[in-house]
Amino acid sequence: MKSGYWAPEMKKLILATRNSDKIIEIQSIMKLDHSELAGIGNFPQAPDVVEDGQTLRENALKKARSAFLATGLPSVADDSGLEVDALDGAPGVHSSRFAGEHVTYADNNAKLLSLMQGVPESRRTARFRCVACYVDKTHEEYVEGVCEGVILEELRGNQGFGYDPLFFIPRLGKTLAELSVEAKSTLSHRGEAFRRMGEMLKRMGY
Ligand code: IMP
Repeated sequence: MKSGYWAPEMKKLILATRNSDKIIEIQSIMKLDHSELAGIGNFPQAPDVVEDGQTLRENALKKARSAFLATGLPSVADDSGLEVDALDGAPGVHSSRFAGEHVTYADNNAKLLSLMQGVPESRRTARFRCVACYVDKTHEEYVEGVCEGVILEELRGNQGFGYDPLFFIPRLGKTLAELSVEAKSTLSHRGEAFRRMGEMLKRMGY
């Protein structure tokens, strides 16, 4: 990473993701006054992390710890998943590869729809869960956010990503794929987790 990147008076924090949209979203949710964030993509020496944990918490810790070890700087990572009650909490930690390795969001949605075929409306409850983890030399801290909804019988809306078109929020009468990015982050699992992370980091002086 080029020297002089950081402003000297600011604390430094790494976000252990290579997704620049996610970095912008998280930055705007946490609104830290005394720190500068950089994505792990700015550090070519940082290894890719295999997300093979059994829980969201394990994966978040693995990514945050790997970023801390590679950069020597305090690091934050998150992991999210969809928990469907009628499927005993699946796909959960396996949400990104529900239909197999290297699949598309459409493949995962098709698998979810087929497994949920015939499940009555009252049993289609689900939630997105996000666990975010902060790691530095002396701390390992977790926060969580949850977004409750139900799984529709067909896709609705074309914004967002992943399972958004199937995830309906009854009190809004909309799926997550029918919300703007801003509206989604006020009520999403990731929004809640990173608002909590922001509050915790501010108490730590960030
Ligand atoms: P990640 O940990 O944020 O990368 O999420 C893992 C997987 O969970 C994604 O590949 C999606 O399949 C699913 N997922 C997580 N968050 C969302 C969301 O906000 N909307 C739809 N799908 C999501």
